[in-house]
Amino acid sequence: MNKKYNGLNDFKKYLNSKKRIVLKIGTQVLLNDKNKLSLSAFKRICDFSYSLIRQQKEVILVSSGAIAAGKGILNMPPSSNNFSMPEKQAFAACGQAILMKNYGFFCKKHGIKTAQILLTKDDIASRKRFVNARNTIYELLKNKVMPIINENDTISYEEIKFSDNDHLSALVSNLVCADLLIILSDVKGVYHKNPVLHKDAKLIDTIGSIKDFIKDFKETSKSLQGTGGMKSKLYAAFIAAEAGIDTVIISGRDKRSLDLFVNGKLPGTFIPSLNNNINKKKHWLLFGMEKRGQIVIDSGAAGAIIDKNKSLLASGILAVNGEFKKGEGVYIVNTLGKIFSIGISNFDSKDIERIKGLKSYEIKTKLGNDSLSAIVVHKNKLVVTI
Ligand code: GLU
Repeated sequence: MNKKYNGLNDFKKYLNSKKRIVLKIGTQVLLNDKNKLSLSAFKRICDFSYSLIRQQKEVILVSSGAIAAGKGILNMPPSSNNFSMPEKQAFAACGQAILMKNYGFFCKKHGIKTAQILLTKDDIASRKRFVNARNTIYELLKNKVMPIINENDTISYEEIKFSDNDHLSALVSNLVCADLLIILSDVKGVYHKNPVLHKDAKLIDTIGSIKDFIKDFKETSKSLQGTGGMKSKLYAAFIAAEAGIDTVIISGRDKRSLDLFVNGKLPGTFIPSLNNNINKKKHWLLFGMEKRGQIVIDSGAAGAIIDKNKSLLASGILAVNGEFKKGEGVYIVNTLGKIFSIGISNFDSKDIERIKGLKSYEIKTKLGNDSLSAIVVHKNKLVVTI
């Protein structure tokens, strides 16, 4: 049974109840002070994973570091970030193999088998590929193999990239139905102000509502070699929270923090999930699925969707923006362009153009097709966002 965390003293019991853990490792965690890969960092992460596995947990790693590792192989200046997309992709192609080699080496010492999974945003956006990735990961876990996931940087270009691996780790947490997301960072957790600039910055133990917290949060630390900062970690925690998954942010560079954690202490920041009971599929609609266009609807249809949990019918549609196909994701907006719902369209955009504003019997007479339903977005494939 998954426990709620009710304060520091309870953390050990809380952690005992968490069985499936996504462990996100930032690039900075894997580097030494000269921005080169640190073998002792890999050892530290593998030892930590082993400690969790020994507590009967399943661990799925989401690891960055391929680009940084590849820079080393191609003798590029480790501290520079001024590279083109193809250069970074080439670094990732070289470096990914090194990441796997190092994880494989230190995991083997504990008898842990590892497997590599590289994902693109498209893999998460397509429901079929999403479910396939999930099935593969479940099979690996069944065989006691620890999956190690990274973005497939070689084929991801700007428009279709995850914003960073923090984002990826949150989507993976929903993909595998994780109980807990642990983000290993180069800082101890979330501070109430920038700890580099302010000596009196305090580490926050628990964040009440991530939704409110994130609104006012000013960036306190930006990763040098990775792509994320603390804000992107908090956004990842928010996505996880929406899926009912708690997040912990702790230092992955500090062995003491990791030891404390496996012994049931919380050496960083705890971010509880939001109690909004959104199901996994709807979470995917919100955060995973690609949205290709917009359907503009009238206030009557908006009320039916928001207050009465109804499907969107053609009669309530005023306009369509963008081109999309049946089965693709759309935003549902009001006449001011405010998004209040996301769903999967039952029609191509060009067909919605023809049936917008029509009642079901009119659709049949106008389009002469008896099989056409007036439901443009079914209530089970729709999620309200306000
Ligand atoms: N996929 C990138 C890498 O392995 C990291 C992206 C990130 O740090 O957010 O280098």
